[in-house]
Amino acid sequence: MYDYDLLVVGSANADLVIGVERRPGAGETVLGSDLAVHPGGKGANQAVAAARLGARTALLARVGDDDHGRLLLDSQREAGVDTVGVLVGDAPTGVALITVDPSGDNSIVVSPGANGRLTPQDVSAAGCLFQSSKVVSTQLEIPLETVVEVVRNLAPDSRFVLNPSPPRPLPAEVLAACDPLIVNEHEAKVILGDSAVGDTPEDWARILLAKGPRSVVVTLGSEGALVASAEGVLRVASVKVHAVDTTGAGDAFTAALAYRLGAGEPLAEAAAYAARVGAATVTKEGAQASFPTAEEVAELCC
Ligand code: ATP
Repeated sequence: MYDYDLLVVGSANADLVIGVERRPGAGETVLGSDLAVHPGGKGANQAVAAARLGARTALLARVGDDDHGRLLLDSQREAGVDTVGVLVGDAPTGVALITVDPSGDNSIVVSPGANGRLTPQDVSAAGCLFQSSKVVSTQLEIPLETVVEVVRNLAPDSRFVLNPSPPRPLPAEVLAACDPLIVNEHEAKVILGDSAVGDTPEDWARILLAKGPRSVVVTLGSEGALVASAEGVLRVASVKVHAVDTTGAGDAFTAALAYRLGAGEPLAEAAAYAARVGAATVTKEGAQASFPTAEEVAELCC
């Protein structure tokens, strides 16, 4: 019997968000809206997204002993996430500087801060969280050696889900544990590197799968997603919505997918549910503020 449907190991950032008419190019300055500060970071986002859908969720992360850290702990607890694994250290809480244009597209710069201090030792010291979790998910806003240690600490029957964002080449040991590896187009191309032969998302999914993951999901924004496993490549339809802000769509998708896999759903069904969660997320401003409840997902048309 597991205590948690999902253990998220990952980053927690304060998102500093400014709306702009046009995102600046190199060397360019643009004026924007008033600054808004929100709890974010891919790990913290995934934990809140899963808990809001009803998953029993724990977070293993590091924040600073500062206002941003307190903001993050409050938002986790408010969503119902167990924060027993959140370590409060002496480095500042991570920060993400986000600009969002009127079409909902964004540009993001991350200062890792305390996230960079989440060590392999922190992971091995949290062994009981790993033994109590059906699914473990992570991202790459924490050190890669910490992600390797996550893979080594998985309980024998638990499932590992990785969204390699921001992307970088991955060791074979990590790739082999992914079930699934979840990538968008940019992440797929960075991970494939020189072997990125083929032009279509179906090609990337097949080539990624051949690199060792048990399954691969390619997210395609408003076009939905692709699911690839030994059984073949399947397209997951998108849900048509009016997008106002795409921040957090990938995190909500990953959290929903991980949760439903833990509930025993096949990958294609879990991905279809995750696509509905991603679609619901882009209809609202912000990251954590936009994550839907299970009831809101059920109400989403089609
Ligand atoms: P981000 O990094 O901005 O959080 P991402 O690039 O990792 O996102 P996306 O592919 O943009 O991930 O979105 C994840 C999923 O959310 C998509 O596969 C899709 O199912 C859903 N989604 C995203 N944008 C839209 C949209 N405009 N309309 C409908 N569904 C969407």
